[in-house]
Amino acid sequence: MSAEPADPWDATDADGLFGPQTLAHGVFSIPGQLPRVGVRLHDAVVDVHALAVDDGLPWADTLAAPVLNPFMALGPEAWAEEREWLVGVLADDAVDADRVRELSYPLGGPAPVALHLPFQVADYVDFYSSREHAANLGSMFRPGQPALTPNWTHLPIGYHGRSGTVVVSGTPVRRPVGQVRPPGAVAPLVRPSARLDIEAEVGVVVGVGSTLGDRVPVGAFADHVFGVCLVDDWSARDLQAWEYVPLGPFLGKSFATSVSAWVTPLSSLTAARVPAPPREHPVQGYLDDSAHPWGLDVHLEVRLNGAVVSRPPFAGMYWTAAQQLAHLTVNGASLRTGDLLASGTVSGAGADERGSLIELTWNGEQPLELPDGTTRAFLEDGDEVVVSAWAPGPDGSRVGFGEVRGVVEPARPVP
Ligand code: MN
Repeated sequence: MSAEPADPWDATDADGLFGPQTLAHGVFSIPGQLPRVGVRLHDAVVDVHALAVDDGLPWADTLAAPVLNPFMALGPEAWAEEREWLVGVLADDAVDADRVRELSYPLGGPAPVALHLPFQVADYVDFYSSREHAANLGSMFRPGQPALTPNWTHLPIGYHGRSGTVVVSGTPVRRPVGQVRPPGAVAPLVRPSARLDIEAEVGVVVGVGSTLGDRVPVGAFADHVFGVCLVDDWSARDLQAWEYVPLGPFLGKSFATSVSAWVTPLSSLTAARVPAPPREHPVQGYLDDSAHPWGLDVHLEVRLNGAVVSRPPFAGMYWTAAQQLAHLTVNGASLRTGDLLASGTVSGAGADERGSLIELTWNGEQPLELPDGTTRAFLEDGDEVVVSAWAPGPDGSRVGFGEVRGVVEPARPVP
C-alpha cells in the first residue's frame, strides 16, 4: 500500500499537542521517495520541503536533506523566517489549505510513512542534572556517605557518550552482554545484563556550532540550540556498576540511546520557560542564569508495557540546558551542528516521579506491580517502554514532543 495524502486538520490528535503552535520537525519518507524534512501537524506529517520549493524560499533546499542538520545550521534568523512562514501555511484558517492537504501524510495509519533519526548526531553529552536522581543514586551506591558528591551543586556533571549508537524511537533495543561482578563474587563474569534499565530524559539539539576556543555564555543559548527532543538513555546497571570507576559510564550505556522522531523548536516553548529551582548557594559567574532562565515546564510520562509507572517533572531540574551548554564550552570546547545534550534522568521528589527503574524499585528491592499481575525490578525481554511529554504552549494550548519508544530484544549468545 502506498502512502496517500490525508487531511491533517481532520486528524484526531485528541490532546491537541501538534497544532500549529508546536511545529515539531522530523525526517520522514514514503515508499519510493528519499527521506526529507517534515513538520508534524496533528496526526500527519507535512512535506514542508515541497511547500518551501513551491513558495521559492531561499532555504528550501536544506529541507530536502535526510537530516535536519543543514537547516539547523542556518541559525536563528532562518529558523524565525521558517516559523513565520509555517504558522501561516499550517494555520487552522490557512488560505491555501488544499495545497497542504496534498502534501500531508497520515502517521500511524495503514500507509507506510517512515520516521527516521531526525538529525545526524555529532557529539553526544549526557548530564546528571536532577538533584533528586543524583541523591537517590548516591544513597543507593554510596550508603553511609553524603548523597551528593561535593562537586554536584557547583557544576553540571556530565560525560561524553557514544553518538553513533543514538537511534530513533521505535528501534528495538537488544539486551547487552558484558562484564558484571555479581554481589559477593570475587571475579567478574560475562553474561547478558540482568539489570537493564531506562532513563527518561530531555535533550537539546545544537543547530549552530562554535569555534574551538570560544565560549557559549548562558545568554547565547537560543543562538545555538534549535530545539528539544526526548531521550531514553538505556542503562545496564550491572555492567555500569562494575566498569564506571574511575572514568564513568562506558559499555553500560553505549549499546543504545533512543531519541524521539521529533525535534520541537525552542521557539515553540516560550510559554514553557520557568526559572530553575532555588540554588543551594551562588553559582560561578559563567553559570549565573538569573537573567536567562531556561528551565522548561515539560511534563514527562513513562509507560512500561502500557502502564504509566512515572510522571517526571522536568521543571524541577537543578541545572538548565543553558547552564549545561555554558559549562560544556567554558574550557573552549567547540560545538557542532547536531550535538545532543541530554539532561540526565529526570526525577522529581515524589515516589511516582522517578525517571528510572532503579529508583522506582529502589535498586530492585521494591518491584513494580504491573496491571497484568506481573512484577518488574528491571526490564525483561519483550518489555516495551514509552516516554512521552508535553509542555504549556501559547493561549492555554499544549506543545507536544512525541514519544521515544523501545522494545527489549533478547541478548545475543555470550561470547
Ligand atoms: Mn543518562
